[in-house]
Amino acid sequence: MSVPRTASVLVIGGGVVGCSIAYHLARRGVRDVVVVERETVGSGTTSKAAGGIRAQFPTETEIRFSLESLRVLESFRDEFGVDPGFRRIGYLFLVSDAADLQGFEARIALQRRLGVDVRVVTPKEAQAIVPALHVEDLIAAVWGPRDGLAGPAEVTAGFARRARELGVRILEGVETTGIALGGGRVRGVETSEGAVAAPVVVNAAGPAAARIGRLAGVVLPVYPRRRHIFYTDPFPDLPGPVPITTDRASGFYFRKELEQVLLSPG
Ligand SMILES: Cc1cc2nc3c(=O)[nH]c(=O)nc-3n(C[C@H](O)[C@H](O)[C@H](O)COP(=O)(O)OP(=O)(O)OC[C@H]3O[C@@H](n4cnc5c(N)ncnc54)[C@H](O)[C@@H]3O)c2cc1C
Repeated sequence: MSVPRTASVLVIGGGVVGCSIAYHLARRGVRDVVVVERETVGSGTTSKAAGGIRAQFPTETEIRFSLESLRVLESFRDEFGVDPGFRRIGYLFLVSDAADLQGFEARIALQRRLGVDVRVVTPKEAQAIVPALHVEDLIAAVWGPRDGLAGPAEVTAGFARRARELGVRILEGVETTGIALGGGRVRGVETSEGAVAAPVVVNAAGPAAARIGRLAGVVLPVYPRRRHIFYTDPFPDLPGPVPITTDRASGFYFRKELEQVLLSPG
């Protein structure tokens, strides 16, 4: 593994975020971008994601990010030569609590103002969208038909491939072990394969971001939380496509994954 001794930008972490940042920097003409990934590209949190993508978020920043991401996914195949498996199968939130439903009002108004197609539907309408649902305990559901899913591995591979074509060096099996500081700023990183000097270091280490921050003496409010997903055997009783359906009370969600059902306690 040959690790360069200098980089114009060094990105720590080769998950979907690090690969996207590296690609977009290179596309804007930044040269000598280096990504160091301690394992393999996309093997971290990205490999566990359920692939759901929604514009149904509470803050304007999140909503704008999601709308832009949905736009990128629409034309992903043309830009990256990879089918990201993007499908607008929708996102359905099941609501059984009046206060919870009231809490949706402000965010739905904000989402609509920003151009998101989102609406409150009755339990019966929710059942028409997902016929397998039992809706006796629901008071409503919130439905975003333009939300959907994409393949985390495909999207990450697309970013990484195009980034490499644009000259980005993505180094797998290289761990960042320290941050070099000097004159009140970051000067580069120490890695398992030696030091790399870089005037800009991007912390894209996902759940390890706080640990990387500590290497530079910075406290970052990133608190990893262990989550789980499960897959059934082929499950023809629940014909697809099934939107990503989340029970707000418990956090449990499911969707169809090819012939299987993907389940998560949230
Ligand atoms: C069960 C589950 C389901 C999810 N479902 C969804 C979903 O439906 N929709 C959605 O949008 N999000 C979902 N997520 C969240 C999503 O997976 C993450 O937000 C996303 O993958 C984060 O990407 P990342 O690149 O920031 O992190 P990561 O993919 O974790 O990448 C960080 C990388 O940094 C590397 N790294 C860490 N420390 C170092 C170091 N010292 N040196 C070098 N490399 C280092 C790691 O090896 C890792 O590859 C889900 C997550 C889980 C766990």
